[in-house]
Amino acid sequence: MSGGCCVSLVAQGLTRYRHIRTDRLEGGAVTPLYAKRVPVTPLRQNCTILSNDEGRAVVVDPGGDVGDILQHLDGMTVEAILLTHGHLDHAGGAAALKRALEKQQGQPVPVLGPDRRDEFLLQSITKQAAAFGIPGMENVAPDRFVEGGEVLHLLGQDLHVAHVPGHTPGHVVFVDHDNRRVLAGDTLFRGTVGRTDFAYGDSQALVDGIRRHLLTLSDDTVVLCGHGMPTTIGEERRTNPFLIS
Ligand SMILES: [Zn+2]
Repeated sequence: MSGGCCVSLVAQGLTRYRHIRTDRLEGGAVTPLYAKRVPVTPLRQNCTILSNDEGRAVVVDPGGDVGDILQHLDGMTVEAILLTHGHLDHAGGAAALKRALEKQQGQPVPVLGPDRRDEFLLQSITKQAAAFGIPGMENVAPDRFVEGGEVLHLLGQDLHVAHVPGHTPGHVVFVDHDNRRVLAGDTLFRGTVGRTDFAYGDSQALVDGIRRHLLTLSDDTVVLCGHGMPTTIGEERRTNPFLIS
């Protein structure tokens, strides 16, 4: 069943979810997708590699440690690099990864996202990195910003974009309805929500966005978080103190 194995892994408290297979429920065709977590940067941000059986992949939030990400890709063809938001630990390696992949693949590898309202963060990554004392991070100019409501067609799947601001103004999440999976970045975590104690933070907008775009998903939807372990929508609906009304 779609997402079932992910749910049971979460229930068992396993911290790794590489090579989890999920199957499309409808239409008869089985389209396996795999999700591999690669923690990157001293902030241990979860870069996620989505891949299919045809050796094609999408990299979400390559914050740094690009050599590690390339090693995990193991020669797969990357269709795109996706960014949920403009914080350094999510986007600081995107420019270097794009360069490396384009050299390797001999064709453009677009950086897509986040929403344009995070452009100021993407343009200040080197400054953010200096404040944290993290070397090797770069500003990045996406090939295209994305907007809430649009659908990206990657790896033979539809990834729906939802704008969930509050942690940052332009934060987006990517929802894979067929595989019941959401790449949530720093919006929703296991038992908590993203920080909003920045000058541009907005805690009410964050909770409102989570309620509108994430809690409306099915209980068995797996949430791949920007930090820490994955969870499910059902688990957070029942137990997350920031969301229980
Ligand atoms: Zn963040």
